[in-house]
Order: sequence, then C-alpha cells, then structure tokens
Amino acid sequence: MGRRIHNFNAGPAALPLPVLEEVQLELLDYKGSGMSILELSHRSKWFDNVINEAVERTRRLLNLGDDFEVLFIQGGASLQFCMIPMNLALPGKPVEYVNTGTWSTKAIKEAQIQGKDVVEIASSEDRNFSYIPGNLTVNPDAAYLHFTSNNTIKGTQWSRFPDAGAVPLICDMSSDIMSRSFDPRPFGLIYAGAQKNIGPAGTALVMIRKDMLERVPDDIPTMLKYSTFAGKNSMFNTPACIVIYIISLVMKWLEETIGGLENMDAINREKGALIYGCIDASDFYQGTAAKDSRSLMNVTFRLPNEDLEKRFVAEALEAGLGGLKGHRSVGGCRASIYNATGIDGVSALVDFMKEFEKKNG
Ligand code: PMP
Repeated sequence: MGRRIHNFNAGPAALPLPVLEEVQLELLDYKGSGMSILELSHRSKWFDNVINEAVERTRRLLNLGDDFEVLFIQGGASLQFCMIPMNLALPGKPVEYVNTGTWSTKAIKEAQIQGKDVVEIASSEDRNFSYIPGNLTVNPDAAYLHFTSNNTIKGTQWSRFPDAGAVPLICDMSSDIMSRSFDPRPFGLIYAGAQKNIGPAGTALVMIRKDMLERVPDDIPTMLKYSTFAGKNSMFNTPACIVIYIISLVMKWLEETIGGLENMDAINREKGALIYGCIDASDFYQGTAAKDSRSLMNVTFRLPNEDLEKRFVAEALEAGLGGLKGHRSVGGCRASIYNATGIDGVSALVDFMKEFEKKNG
C-alpha cells in the first residue's frame, strides 16, 4: 500500500480505512457472484440486499422507525434545494428559511426561482455568517422551516435544533449527518450529499416522513417526485450502485465498530476539544466562528497573514496532513474532521500546528 495521509478535505472526504479495505477485498468477486459490485445488475438479489441493508442501518442509526422513507437520489444536495419546494410547499402558505451561509443561500434561491412565498426568518449575514442565529419566530402557518445544520464553509453548526412547533423541519445535514444522534420526530425531511460523512460522491441520502409524501403534486416531472423514489425503493431508474454499496459499509462501520451515534458524537467532541483547545491557547491561530456556534466537523481558522497560511497548508502536506486550505470563497484554513478522521489524525494536526507556531509565531 502507498502512503496514506491524514485527509482533512471538506468533501469528497476521508472514508474509514476498514471500509476501503472491505471494498478492495470484495471488488473483483462480490459475495460469490463472480462479478464486481461495479458490474452487478441493480435488479439482482445481491444489490437488493445492499440497498436494503443501507436503508435498514440508516433507520436504526437515526432511530427513524417506520415513520420515514429512506431514499437515494442522484443530483447531490443541490438537487434537493430544488426538489424540496417543488414537492413540499403548500398553496397559500409561506416556506420559511434560516440563512446561515452559502448553502442556505442557494437553497433559498431555488425556492425563489419557483415563485414560492419564501420568508427568510433569520440570517447571520450581518456578521459574515460567523454564528447561528437564536430566538427564531416561526409562522405556525408555514409549510416548512428549512435550515442547514452545519455550515461547511463558515465552520458553524447548530448545537440545538430550532423549535418550530408543528411546522415540519427540513434540514440540509450534508456535512454533519451521522455525526451525532438527535430526535428525528420534528423533521419532515432530512437530506445529505453522501460525500462528506457517509460515502463517496454521487447520491444524496434523503429521509422523508411518510405523511410529507401526501404533498407531492401530480404535475411535476416523474424523476423529481419523492413519491417516485419512495414507491420503487430508489430504483425507478438505475441508482448510484457503487455509492450506495459504500454507504452501506460506512453504516456498518458506524454500527459495529463505532457502536452507534452516541459513541461517534463522543469521539467527535473529543476531536473538537483537541483542535479548538489548540486554537484558543494561541494568539497565532484565530478561529473564525463564534465560540457558541463552532462546528465539530469543519474547523475554520486564520493565521496572521496570507503568506503564512500558504506556507502552513504546503508544509502540512509535506508532513502528511492534506486538505487544509479554506474554501476558495473565504480563504484561510479549514480542517474538516468528519467521522472518518480519527483522534490520531487530529492529534497529528495539533502537534503540527504547535510546531508551526513555534517556528513562525
Ligand atoms: N449543502 C452543504 C452543507 C454542503 O456542504 C454542500 C457541498 N459542499 C452542498 C449542500 C452541496 O452538495 P452537492 O455538491 O452534493 O450538491
């Protein structure tokens, strides 16, 4: 095996090594089929088992019970920005959004394009999206309230979800799905692009409460209806087979190796404490998110100047720590420490940060 680095990319991102090893082991002959999982029919019993396992493990990990459909829909999280208002807005009712950065802004735009009555009930744009707004007032007549649980670019995360009463919550959990456990009952729909915390790029995981399916209008295209995917176990057409297969292995790793989302959350908190502890103990590194809104998934920080930031990213890579450049829209540095990044990876980064500060501070 060639040298593997500690991977802090924001997405596509690190996958658990045991998952990659399992893929490697069964790549040429999937469970005695004599074919690769890449070659199998999605109508075969082998793939049926794969998708059903991915669905059942997702249900168990998130305590979804039988109230939700678990779907795999291509087009990434970005297609969900469009499908949500198209399927779930209700005539004569507003759709409400909280704007906490680039991805919420894009979700809002897609609802506006469709001429929906979009109300932005809170925004953190006044301080460059560096915090999570509090004290929301939700219109009890709204069709739904949409928010983004973790802001991948700005490094902020909701520590407690908003209370919208009986209004269904809709959440983009692309960058923190499966990082912690929560009560799914207030949610009408949860979605996540796979490529950060649960697999490679190529599908979104969508969990929709069954009563929400009654809202799906007849007069929208077949492939844009949630009911199409729900009625055919996500196989109305050919799904992203390899992605769903790897998702099922990541879910297995979460259940059997990690022991569930409460354990995952504890590990993520330990990782967060390590790296934020390093940032807070230093004047050299400055965290960009408000302390009470910090993300345990994407840690964003600045160094005293851009030249030092460039050197930091380059020298870190030489030391086997990759993907630390901030998003191109904001600059600075970002360490994405999703589930697959272990405490060893975060410790190695913190050691490097301390050493770099000693040399350059
Ligand atoms: N939402 C969030 C929170 C994201 O971080 C991203 C991608 N970085 C997206 C949506 C868009 O996802 P996709 O590329 O799967 O459309």
